[in-house]
Amino acid sequence: MTRKLYYEDPYKMEFDSKVVKIDHDKSGPFVVLKETAFYPTGGGQPHDQGTLNDIEVIDAEEVEEEVRHYTKEELPESTEEVHGIIDRERRIDHMQQHCGQHIISAVFDDLFNLPTTSFHLGKNTVTIDLDTEHLSEEILQKAEERVNQIIRTNYPVETKWMSVEEAGEYPLRKPLAVDGDVRLVIIPDIDYNGCGGTHPESTGEVMTVKFLGWTKSKKQVRLEFVCGYRVLDKLGQKHQILTELKQLIPRPEEQFVGEVDHLIKASKEKDKKMAELEGQILQYEAREIISDAEGNKVIQRVFQDRPIKTLQSLGKAIIEEASDAYLILVSEQEDQLQFVLASGAEIDRNMNEVAKQTMPLIEGKGGGKPNFVQGGGKKLMDGADFADRVKERL
Ligand SMILES: [Zn+2]
Repeated sequence: MTRKLYYEDPYKMEFDSKVVKIDHDKSGPFVVLKETAFYPTGGGQPHDQGTLNDIEVIDAEEVEEEVRHYTKEELPESTEEVHGIIDRERRIDHMQQHCGQHIISAVFDDLFNLPTTSFHLGKNTVTIDLDTEHLSEEILQKAEERVNQIIRTNYPVETKWMSVEEAGEYPLRKPLAVDGDVRLVIIPDIDYNGCGGTHPESTGEVMTVKFLGWTKSKKQVRLEFVCGYRVLDKLGQKHQILTELKQLIPRPEEQFVGEVDHLIKASKEKDKKMAELEGQILQYEAREIISDAEGNKVIQRVFQDRPIKTLQSLGKAIIEEASDAYLILVSEQEDQLQFVLASGAEIDRNMNEVAKQTMPLIEGKGGGKPNFVQGGGKKLMDGADFADRVKERL
């Protein structure tokens, strides 16, 4: 069994140890040591990283009571001793997040009777699941305030090994799920918890906690938060975004929401106006096309790269005026043809039939109402040829 230095001193970031074995499994090459300060994944807390004799440790896992240090490259077979260095920033971050989580869970349980059902320490943020379907603004505010008060009071955080029977004497947050000796993480008067994670010596080291929001997760609430230096990182990111926004919106940031709301509304208004104007232009274009047709009973036009939506609007505008004419509109794209086939109200003809006969020419698909059909296919011929072939069927 590996001696776990991180339990004796969670601030120990360097150590020397004898090598017990060098081996590999399906996760890669690993080293087992007589003693280690590397925390292996467990209890919701991710593993440490660092180096052993300058070789990178990318993972640490506890398998069959030994801590396996997975290294980027295999250590030389003859290695008898190693000097280990823990990635300090990563470890301190995990200690801040994990201890912060204990305090948050304790506060939700004690103040609002909401137990925590799971904990995830992620790369950017941390989440806990709380056994409720909703969290009001008021609860969030009160909880966050109380959590930060506990941090500021700088309670000691103690860890103690004891038998399950002894542990039963403490007001435990959750019943213990293990036999034999257990480790309690104790914040006197605040929290008594069975936990194998690494924690700072006092709550003050958690620095501060900021809730980021919550989402529904199954029948529970998933609360997202950050502790310690992550709060500063988050503040830095948000400040950067606001600074960039200030370049675009030259107003005090308190006015950003109102200003953006105003911009979105104004843009929607402009879109509406633009659509109206486009409609009017299409009306003019429709009249011009009808007048160019000089009373011809088949009106046909070929365009380049016009969206099918515009063809449809234009088709409708033409056929409304030219109630005794057939209409063929084609748009040529790079390797496609799109079309509208229509007939005026005075003509009793199912244009779907005409489309069915001519679409195979372009391996096309389409359909619509008896007097108005749209579709498209491959550009197997010119748009003008296709329009002529359709006209032959009318
Ligand atoms: Zn814990």
